Amino acid sequence: MQTPEIHDLLKTRFGYDEFRPLQADIIQTVLAGRDALVLMPTGGGKSLCYQLPALCLDGLTLVVSPLIALMKDQVDALRANGVAAAFINSTVPPREGRGILADARAGRIRILYIAPERLAVPGFTEFLGSVDVSQIAIDEAHCISEWGHDFRPDYRNLHVLRERFPDTPVMALTATATAQVRNDIVGQLAIPRARQFVASFDRRNLTYYVRPKRGAFDALLNLLRQHADGSAIVYCLSRQNAEDLAADLTDQGIQALPYHAGLDPATRRTTQERFIRDEVPVVAATIAFGMGIDKPDVRLIVHFHLPKTLEGYYQETGRAGRDGLPSTCVLFYGASDRYALSGFIEQIQDETERARARHKLQQMIKYSQLQTCRRAFLLDYFGETYDQAACGGCDVCLSEREEFDATEIAQKLLSAVIRTGERFGAAHIIQVVRGGRGRRLLDVGHDRLSVYGIARDHGRVELHEILALLEDAGLVGHTTDRYRSLAVTPRGRDFLRRREPLTLSRVKSQDDDPSQPWPGLDQLEFDRGLFDQLRDLRFRLAQARNVPPYMVFGDRSLQEMACYLPHSRKSFSTISGVGRAKLQEFANDFLSVITDYAESRGLAVRPRPERRIRPTRSTARKSSTQRQTLELVLRGLSISEVSRRRGLTEATIMSHVEHLIAAGESLPLERELPTPERVTRISEAFARTQSPALTPVRQLVGDDFSFEEIRIVRAWLDQQRRQRPAQSAPASDSPPP
Ligand code: ADP
Ligand code: ZN
Repeated sequence: MQTPEIHDLLKTRFGYDEFRPLQADIIQTVLAGRDALVLMPTGGGKSLCYQLPALCLDGLTLVVSPLIALMKDQVDALRANGVAAAFINSTVPPREGRGILADARAGRIRILYIAPERLAVPGFTEFLGSVDVSQIAIDEAHCISEWGHDFRPDYRNLHVLRERFPDTPVMALTATATAQVRNDIVGQLAIPRARQFVASFDRRNLTYYVRPKRGAFDALLNLLRQHADGSAIVYCLSRQNAEDLAADLTDQGIQALPYHAGLDPATRRTTQERFIRDEVPVVAATIAFGMGIDKPDVRLIVHFHLPKTLEGYYQETGRAGRDGLPSTCVLFYGASDRYALSGFIEQIQDETERARARHKLQQMIKYSQLQTCRRAFLLDYFGETYDQAACGGCDVCLSEREEFDATEIAQKLLSAVIRTGERFGAAHIIQVVRGGRGRRLLDVGHDRLSVYGIARDHGRVELHEILALLEDAGLVGHTTDRYRSLAVTPRGRDFLRRREPLTLSRVKSQDDDPSQPWPGLDQLEFDRGLFDQLRDLRFRLAQARNVPPYMVFGDRSLQEMACYLPHSRKSFSTISGVGRAKLQEFANDFLSVITDYAESRGLAVRPRPERRIRPTRSTARKSSTQRQTLELVLRGLSISEVSRRRGLTEATIMSHVEHLIAAGESLPLERELPTPERVTRISEAFARTQSPALTPVRQLVGDDFSFEEIRIVRAWLDQQRRQRPAQSAPASDSPPP
């Protein structure tokens, strides 16, 4: 099958104009009869990878999925697009099941979803002996591995399929897999020659924020009010927290329900259902909520309490914006949660387990206290290098920063750490310098030290922040046990000895607004009034059909309608998400609302552009921290001088430089370049890879080239290209061709 044909199917059946990254390649791979292993983040669009081929292939596509709740959802969504699909699991009465199998055998069903247990049912094995299966998809494939977090013994039966259909292509899909789990999947499924597709785990449409725990409830109210027209999940630490929060929100006039494993199954089911159907906008939940939910239009995920691990955090925030539209993730962080979690962890009996849990929590805390890009940290944690300049989509990158002279306060804090014997954590040190009268402090006699009370004029929160900055700057470190005792590093000792001046940079004001999607995303200018009317219509149509509203149309489709105001069936069919089946079923209803609205307000129709406009990064904005770097660079300071002067890492300064170049500044970079021969080697490598990514270039030029020098050459090439547009060189802010 040729690319244009699968492209046609994408539009006529699913209503989409373009494939998401990797989808087309994956589809071609199955169609060529090869096995594939697909690793994509939640919301990456995994289902389409087997659903579209199912329409091209002659026989049946068998999909194995462990999530019974999702099967019905997937099947309903497929049917809404006019695809013959069905599922068999324990909720289907045997009689009905037999009918479905007969339909599948007769070719009346293209896609059949089954739970893994089914493979052990005798009647089913018989069925497999009589049917032509042309594709096997294994969803949530990590369940096959004991190394994963979600092992399902039934998944070990899958080899039955491989044996029965040795020549049928198998596609294994998952959103979570370490190298170990990946190998396990390939081994267990006996697909050693599977092509592996690994998508980036960067969720570009999500913006990450961390906010202080103090005043969190009011901040939460604001957030929810600003997101009133979308769905939100607020994650809490305990069942009680979830109950209380839901009640408090309801008191404040925000419709919210609690969800946790302690509620009876019927209540849980209704809550989930009402959330999915847009009948309740907010759920306050423990992490028990979300597993069986595929709601694509959750716009806001709040962690009201600190999660235990970054894995959990990434997974939970991943439930925001599966439809690709801008969505927000906010974490409220305060020391009290940290103590509560540490308390739980210390109760773990097994020593290795306990150490592991501690380490994971520390990474989570580190994330919460970051003064550098949160996206870069997250991706790095999951083993992906994020080599863009500032992401522009996290509070650190978005907020205004200010520099301050930290020489004196740093000296005081470091001295206090040393004087107390480097055996105490941040809270204690801060008490000492603020002249606190805590029991323990007095017990150990720290009120008699010369450093006692030397920083009374500083606030507690401020000092915590400064300690975190000093840690970022490498002047202090802490032990990794539960005490997190601070110690001064050799660099910190140098700083004290030489009495060097120190400038640090901190967030000046958090006027960046979590309700605003970040600049640089592909966003439509649509009519809000019309959008709201279309949402109402969607809600009514969905209720009448007993399906969730997003199955009628996703938010993106409604936004496009409210932007381009289609007036005919033809123009309606160009809207994203409108395939043949939905055109038939819904065009009239939506067109009449759009026409009425447009006529009553004298609005004109706008033609929809052929293709979606690619997201362009807004490069014009320069943050104040970037402006400060600019000034110093223009004054003649080198990057390392600027870095020292500002107390920021060279990598951060370098990311400012890249941003500034993208914003059209012209910087004197020549003096930073390596020798001309090395510049040539690096330039040639970029020309070969045709991509701004650093890693492939490093692989070409070899290990004796550093990432830093490759990066500076990339910036220089980028600047040249911008100054002489005719010349082509890789740009650091445009997607690879
Ligand atoms: P995953 O299983 O990887 O979490 P899904 O398959 O549920 O993701 O897809 C997430 C959302 O993206 C769904 O709403 C789906 O309809 C949408 N989607 C998938 N592919 C495309 C595409 N090519 N264009 C637009 N939307 C898409
Ligand atoms: Zn960032």
